[in-house]
Amino acid sequence: MRRIAIINQKGGVGKTTTTANLGAALALQGRRVVVVDMDAQANLTLALGVEPDPTKCSSYSVLVGAGRFGEALVETSIPGLRLLPANIDLSGAELELASAMGREFVLRDALAEWNEAEKARTGRDAADYILFDCPPSLGLLAINSLSAASEVLITLQTEFLALQGMSKLVEVVQLLKKRLNPELQVTGILPCMYDSRKRLAREVLGEIRSYFKGQVLPVSIRSNVKLAEAPSYGKTIFSYAADSSGAQDYMDVARFLLAGEARFAHMQGLPAYDPQAKAPLEADELARRAAAKARRPPPPRRTATPKPSKPQADTATPADKAELKPMPKPALAPTSETQPPTLPTASFANQVAASSSLDMPELPPDAFAILSSLPDGP
Ligand code: ATP
Ligand code: MG
Repeated sequence: MRRIAIINQKGGVGKTTTTANLGAALALQGRRVVVVDMDAQANLTLALGVEPDPTKCSSYSVLVGAGRFGEALVETSIPGLRLLPANIDLSGAELELASAMGREFVLRDALAEWNEAEKARTGRDAADYILFDCPPSLGLLAINSLSAASEVLITLQTEFLALQGMSKLVEVVQLLKKRLNPELQVTGILPCMYDSRKRLAREVLGEIRSYFKGQVLPVSIRSNVKLAEAPSYGKTIFSYAADSSGAQDYMDVARFLLAGEARFAHMQGLPAYDPQAKAPLEADELARRAAAKARRPPPPRRTATPKPSKPQADTATPADKAELKPMPKPALAPTSETQPPTLPTASFANQVAASSSLDMPELPPDAFAILSSLPDGP
């Protein structure tokens, strides 16, 4: 079972979008996937069409010991994709956990208990992939996710200051690996909302690649409005816009993870990558298509194949031609596209090194306080 925490303490960098759509892509590739909403905003829960409900079992119930991991899971519209939902109660969990014994391991232990019980019953892991959607902070909820995970996937937005705060994040991951979870590996960095038409985005991506050599995924998630629209319909990109670039990019990330399964003996024998994998159409969409088909007039009867027509003589008058002349290029107002990129004069490496002092407000001091107070080894 691969357990991947999708993390960045920065907000709005594609963590939830990645968890929902990568989870769906893996499920469409025949994997048994559980996505865990560890954010009190419950964006992942909503994005998968589930209404956050404080009366039901959730990630909060699991963290405070009021519910079991397995019983809190709900099915989604994608076969093979299950969700551990969140609701607003989760916002109080960090405080409630603060004085609990083993507070860093509650999620890990709940997941292990479920997996062991399923393994005893069926002889195999309870799921192939668990993806944790982390909140935009490095408090106890993120620490619980990183302790339960075996891998970390960092999402980044390809914009100015993308690397700010990364040194903190890398430090926390390294400290966590040393103190709590020696198994933890960084699977990679996934650039999100990438717009290749923007020179700044291209340059930032280049900087990210050169700073984190070999750690950036070969796939970037392009900026795609369909990815932003899908959650408001409670759908993943594969049900909402299966032919979009967003669907293609997330399927490529799934393909990258599938290729990495070769490293895990226990993940052998799973289905091979299927380039045709598609989400099943929902009943209303099927009904709409059937109705549209019934309304369509029958196709005209075929007659003899028409001969290819000869190229038309050039009948355009000189006046027409004048109209067809290419328009002179308008003088462009200075924008980020026409101006030299507004990259800082200091190199990104310096920025990262200096970012420790810049990003203190983003990082709750307890992430370090918690990890520093612990001895090495779990
Ligand atoms: P938070 O830290 O608040 O939880 P996040 O890191 O989970 O944020 P998302 O919620 O996934 O970030 O994305 C932020 C916003 O950007 C959302 O409105 C989402 O729909 C949009 N978005 C994410 N990825 C893309 C993309 N590739 N193209 C266009 N919009 C995107
Ligand atoms: Mg989020």
